[in-house]
Amino acid sequence: MLSVTPIPAFSDNYIWLLRQDTSPEVCVVDPGDAAPVVQVLERENLTLTDVLITHHHHDHVGGLPELIQRFAPRVIGPSNPQIEGIDEAVNDGDTCRVMGRRFDVLAVPGHTLDHIAFFTAGIPPLLFCGDTLFSAGCGRLFEGSPEQMHRSLTTLTTLPDDTLVFAAHEYTLANLRFASAADPNNREVAAALSEAERARALDRPTLPSNLGRERRINPFLRCADPEVRAAAAAHGDTDTDLATFTTLRAWKDRF
Ligand code: ZN
Ligand code: FE
Repeated sequence: MLSVTPIPAFSDNYIWLLRQDTSPEVCVVDPGDAAPVVQVLERENLTLTDVLITHHHHDHVGGLPELIQRFAPRVIGPSNPQIEGIDEAVNDGDTCRVMGRRFDVLAVPGHTLDHIAFFTAGIPPLLFCGDTLFSAGCGRLFEGSPEQMHRSLTTLTTLPDDTLVFAAHEYTLANLRFASAADPNNREVAAALSEAERARALDRPTLPSNLGRERRINPFLRCADPEVRAAAAAHGDTDTDLATFTTLRAWKDRF
């Protein structure tokens, strides 16, 4: 049994900790900071054997040098020379075995060009998607085009409904406030917003989400929905799903 728990870092990052049964050998995803990881590992007598990296941004890789020095883990990530310490560079279609599970690597460019996601089938399936898909939102376009991001999100929505979505940031509340404007008659968005407000008031994570739920509440996955299209039309072109996505993304940037 694989368990996944969040290690909060910086103001709103989650470094996901993967653990197989009671084995002391663990994996972390996107360690932007070493200190909170080391703290958990020391407290629970764990050792870091594997690291998964989704993209090159500092808040996802900043802890690598110290973690490598202390634990010498196997580091799997994008083939991007900007990231120091990758042992196994992986690309779309590759697979890797981590914590006893087989992970598929999916290229999901858009937020950055090197962005990848890790998916493992199972009960339930798990998706580590970094800054590509958030609950009720998606990453900003720093390097890629709207078309790339739209295609990447479309790729992720082909995964099963019960896939748990482990995004790298606690952005759910702000995303749901935007979703309330972009999908104003969606009752599930309203319910998700109150639920997220309660969770955050208690300092609880709103993640993981799951893909079935994201398909119902995430405006960026709902570009074909007439209500979303109508709301976006006040902010730009909505002639195609891609145009609606592009308009939504630009609207959210200013929201
Ligand atoms: Zn990022
Ligand atoms: Fe980030």
